[in-house]
Amino acid sequence: MTAYMDYKDLANETIDDARAQRIADGVHRVLDRIARAEYEAGRDEGSVTLLAATKTRDVGEIMAAIDAGVHMIGENRPQEITVKIDGLRYACGERGIVLGASDVETVESPDLTDDPEAIDRLPVHLIGQLQSNKINKVLPDVNTIESVDSLELAHKIGRRAAARGADVGVLLEVNESGEASKSGCDPDAAYDLALEIAQIDGIALQGFMTVGAHVDDEAAIRRGFAHLRALRDRVRDSHAEGTARCDDLSMGMSGDMEYAIAEGATIVRIGTAIFGERDFK
Ligand SMILES: *Cc1c(COP(=O)(O)O)cnc(C)c1O
Repeated sequence: MTAYMDYKDLANETIDDARAQRIADGVHRVLDRIARAEYEAGRDEGSVTLLAATKTRDVGEIMAAIDAGVHMIGENRPQEITVKIDGLRYACGERGIVLGASDVETVESPDLTDDPEAIDRLPVHLIGQLQSNKINKVLPDVNTIESVDSLELAHKIGRRAAARGADVGVLLEVNESGEASKSGCDPDAAYDLALEIAQIDGIALQGFMTVGAHVDDEAAIRRGFAHLRALRDRVRDSHAEGTARCDDLSMGMSGDMEYAIAEGATIVRIGTAIFGERDFK
């Protein structure tokens, strides 16, 4: 259990109006930055999805972000999902939104499933490292696991997802910067790995994820993002089994989202620019 979870009640549902307003302002500023970056890159409006990176944030803070226009959330730790998911599902349900993987809705509201288009869905992604003993814990809740970086992990996820009878989305995480502190597979191995993962039962390969280089050098940061886009294009153009929906590029955080959008990001993962600095690491 991560230490900060002992100090902060992540299931807390009520925050004061001033805090909610600051979060709403953060979301609006980020949506403006995204729109401007899309425009400057000559990309379609709405082609980039804002994922709120919600580690260390409680249910009340996350709902303030959702109310302000966030359509996807990403958690780093399975334990945090476990603590927050019931509160988030309930609060989203009150707003007519189905949060996370869809098991719950088929159990609790069969009437909604007749017309899936009519339902507002808010996907939950896992964006932090996943240990194999936590796979079964997250599968009922997450739509997509963004942090898959080995064939071994992919096989374990696929086996468990297939056993549950529901495919899970997967992004292959690539360590484009080569920084030793970062997870992700070797960029040189990523193409072959992606084609293998794409064939695994229980997995829907949806694209790639990377964390930008931690340097103050625009060209170096953009090179990593551009490399990930080229990789995605190659995999999609291969027309190999399971690659038809390999579309997403999850790249760009608070400090480098404009570069990522210029290089083709479809998902940006934003924490600090929405919620402020984290009190806990
Ligand atoms: C925390 C986190 C983010 C968001 O980072 P910010 O700099 O706070 O926007 C994005 N991706 C991953 C994997 C993270 O852990």
